[in-house]
Amino acid sequence: MTASLLLRNVRPYAGKAVDLLIENGTITQVGANLSAPAGVAIEDGRGEIVIPGLVEAHTHLDKSLLGLPWYTNEVGPKLLDKIDNERMNKKRLDIDPERQSARQSILSSLKGTTHIRSHVDIDTEHGLWGVEGVMKTHDAYRDIVDIELVAFPQSGLLRRPGTLDLMDQAMQAGCEIVGGLDPCTIDRDPKGHLDAVFGLCQRYGKPLDIHLHEPGEVGAFSLDLIIERTRALGMTGKVTVSHAFCLGTPDPALIDPLIEELAELDIAIMTTAPASRPAPPVKKLLQAGVRVCSGSDGIRDTWSPYGNADMLERAMFVGLRNNFRRDDEVRLALDVCTTEGAKVMEIEGYGLEVGCVADLVLLPAESIAEAVATRPPQRRVIKRGKIVARDGVSIRTAP
Ligand SMILES: [Zn+2]
Repeated sequence: MTASLLLRNVRPYAGKAVDLLIENGTITQVGANLSAPAGVAIEDGRGEIVIPGLVEAHTHLDKSLLGLPWYTNEVGPKLLDKIDNERMNKKRLDIDPERQSARQSILSSLKGTTHIRSHVDIDTEHGLWGVEGVMKTHDAYRDIVDIELVAFPQSGLLRRPGTLDLMDQAMQAGCEIVGGLDPCTIDRDPKGHLDAVFGLCQRYGKPLDIHLHEPGEVGAFSLDLIIERTRALGMTGKVTVSHAFCLGTPDPALIDPLIEELAELDIAIMTTAPASRPAPPVKKLLQAGVRVCSGSDGIRDTWSPYGNADMLERAMFVGLRNNFRRDDEVRLALDVCTTEGAKVMEIEGYGLEVGCVADLVLLPAESIAEAVATRPPQRRVIKRGKIVARDGVSIRTAP
């Protein structure tokens, strides 16, 4: 699954041109005029930018409608409308998690993503259908992308008895992360919900990544309970809060103490940089020492028609949402979609240095800011030293 390659004339992060020698999937030399060992292929980088692979730190591989007929969305405005609509129509719409996750994984890979964290629905109607399907894609597409599964109680945990048992089974089946969801507004039992998901983390020694859409004061209350448990259970560095819209509340008295505690307990924040919601302030969080990652969230599903799996475009959204204009700020937006995401996912050997795994993207642009602003479709994507996509064409064919 690993390959060797001499990558000539590439510019790490738009810096000075160098050659990269990759042997058995690992970067072994970085320098000028390197020579290729016998039998090692040479790829002309044409002076393009090279960055480490894009990191999709929050998506839902099991529920995309990619390749299926257009879905006319007439779903109600509430979160529960979307949740119930999806669960009730999944089979009718033929949203087979194995096939759909394969389609989205290939799309992600050809856009430059090399690592994906996917939340996968677990509920009493479909059981582990999602986990089993995405797990097959995890195994079958390891040559192009690494996938991490989050056991996600999308329909609620306590309001649908039996879900917690299924979550337990999902962890035994190989999910890497425990998921959770809006402890106040979905389960309407914040203590019960958080005790249950943190309990699973303790039982399996796994991290938590919890969806927290709750806005304002309610969200801040839930976040405080998450912080409290992270501290009490010694889970520093092992918790991610996804969305955390409450951190977008323009009230420093509410937000600043929370940010201080997030930094102290190394709790990460995932933001999609939504255009339509209050969003966590990325620069402020990074400056406070909080890890911040990003993701596409759902891509063309029954929740929303949007999304194309392009994490370079996501970096642009992060920049737009946070009013990043300067080149150094746009670089922060890209960091959120690369190195910061890698920190959140605890990806080993991530980067461009000697000894790192050769998961790379080549981008024809002069600067990082230009790459984010123009999002060139002509990309070369390398996974463990092997070129897995060129100019939007993957080496794998979608089912
Ligand atoms: Zn999500």
